[in-house]
Amino acid sequence: MCGIIGYLGKKQALPILISGLRRMEYRGYDSYGFCVFNKDKEPFIHKKIGKISRSEELSNLTVEGTTGIGHTRWSTTGAVTNENAHPHFDCDKNIFLVHNGIIENYKELKEKLISKGHKFTSETDTEVLCHLVEENYNGSLEEALRKILKDIRGTYGIALMSKKEPQKIVAARLSSPMILGVGQNELLVASDPSAIITHTRQVITLDDNEVAVLKPEDFFILKEKPMVSIDWTPEDAQKKGYEHFMLKEIMEGPETIENAIRGRLIPDEGTVRLGGLDSVRNRLNKINRIVLVACGTAGYASKIGKYMLEEYAGILSEAEIGSEFRYRKPIIDKNTAAVFVSQSGETADTLAGIGELKKKDILTLGITNVVGSTQARETDAGIYTRSGPEIAVASTKVFLGQIATLAMLSVYLGRQRNMSLVMGKRIVSELARVPELAKQILENKEQIKAIAEKYKDFKNFWFIGRKYNFPIALEGALKLKEISYLHAEGGASGELKHGPLALVDENFPTIAVCPSDSVYDKMILGVEEVKVRKGPVLAIATEGNERIKEIVDDVIYIPKTLEMLTPMLSVIPLHLFAYYIAIALDRDVDKPRNLAKSVTVE
Ligand code: GLU
Repeated sequence: MCGIIGYLGKKQALPILISGLRRMEYRGYDSYGFCVFNKDKEPFIHKKIGKISRSEELSNLTVEGTTGIGHTRWSTTGAVTNENAHPHFDCDKNIFLVHNGIIENYKELKEKLISKGHKFTSETDTEVLCHLVEENYNGSLEEALRKILKDIRGTYGIALMSKKEPQKIVAARLSSPMILGVGQNELLVASDPSAIITHTRQVITLDDNEVAVLKPEDFFILKEKPMVSIDWTPEDAQKKGYEHFMLKEIMEGPETIENAIRGRLIPDEGTVRLGGLDSVRNRLNKINRIVLVACGTAGYASKIGKYMLEEYAGILSEAEIGSEFRYRKPIIDKNTAAVFVSQSGETADTLAGIGELKKKDILTLGITNVVGSTQARETDAGIYTRSGPEIAVASTKVFLGQIATLAMLSVYLGRQRNMSLVMGKRIVSELARVPELAKQILENKEQIKAIAEKYKDFKNFWFIGRKYNFPIALEGALKLKEISYLHAEGGASGELKHGPLALVDENFPTIAVCPSDSVYDKMILGVEEVKVRKGPVLAIATEGNERIKEIVDDVIYIPKTLEMLTPMLSVIPLHLFAYYIAIALDRDVDKPRNLAKSVTVE
């Protein structure tokens, strides 16, 4: 999620690290830091919260040194503080390390290290890596790293240096990107080509479990690897070659779900591990009502959460719009938990409710993407979605992270109550499959693009769904409005005949979200009502449902999964549909007019 860069060569390392980090800031921007070995082989460390692009003091920093590593952080573990910024170091300040990813078993590793006398200076998961290397160091940094990687669970891109071997940078990765750049008398390592392509375009991609060693005279990795030449611009590299951040983020959907569930599912026990709720576990056991508070897309995720929590945890739940909730006089007692859902954790309308509830001693929980955000600090406990930075104003991947998180919360609370082991196992094992199923839909994006082309000239759209896919209809309409500026409305399919059907004619298409689930037959009744009035219909249906082709004009198929998890799949075609229509209309998809990413005002 974050950006990593390392430099070893003949030039001054500091300006190279700073400019590389600035180009990677889209990957993580809550804090930054670097370590350069100066000409006396002493470490020069600088780490700070905030955005490196906004930092003015950097121009006054000088250090003569040609070896260094740098990091721009998107915190997953530990608040956003100077101490928690990377690089981290061991007790003797010999080893300096930057890390991208999450070490899932860091708590147990940390306990062991503390019992052996190690002193920690940060709250991060990353710092355990420094102490583990210290513990296993026998004169070779790469050997120590190889040894400790066996004990680590999670994901990582790592770059590290040691005062004892100042002419060396060692790097490794697991499920986290890392490349080596091979320049003239210089070697670089980075989590992202955008950081280094102004220096060299010759790169080698590191594979999972490989350990790379960069030294002045040469470099080697475990096996001979081909060098490739990058022909992207730095701008392209930030977007991983996609035309827009929004498309890149839609394509990151499977990875986002994976990040949300990683290390949290316990398949054998049919439950989930949500460390952020440990401190309130007993209080959660007693609640009998949940109020979810959120705005916009997060509000639709909350509506899905309401259905999940009622059906699977058996808890009366409501989903409230933040801007309404703050001015109501909600009746909430101590048996209620309020769950605030916000990507940024800074949404003013959502945050407004927290203070009031806390005064009344009501349990408040947060689901957010930003560690250390106001929401994360002010709620009693919470769960991070770990979706990584989302740059496009219109939220896509974080919506998936929020639904996955709410599904886990439902299992957590359900298993505290009456959910059977069998049911818990079923949900957990299916949740683990969802990223793969989501990938299959994305492989089909060209077909969705072609369908969007066909629909791009309509001026009005109606999105319908039922039960778990009713909020998806709302989200599909919102996304289309946000980025294409076309008029779209979303609603419950059962409501058609109570009014909206009056709008339908051959110029008013309906997008019907109708996977094969418990309300499929009812959905089809709605679709037929539209067809009878000559309204064009695009259906999102489950693979294998050939019969629907006889009823509707176009179909996009999604794989079969549990009904409660279908929203994570059915929304993907709708996000792509909105994206491709907006592109066809030449809209500024990443920065749609009149809208801002994090709505910090009322
Ligand atoms: N887990 C690490 C932290 O919270 C690294 C996060 C990142 O990838 O930026 O510091």
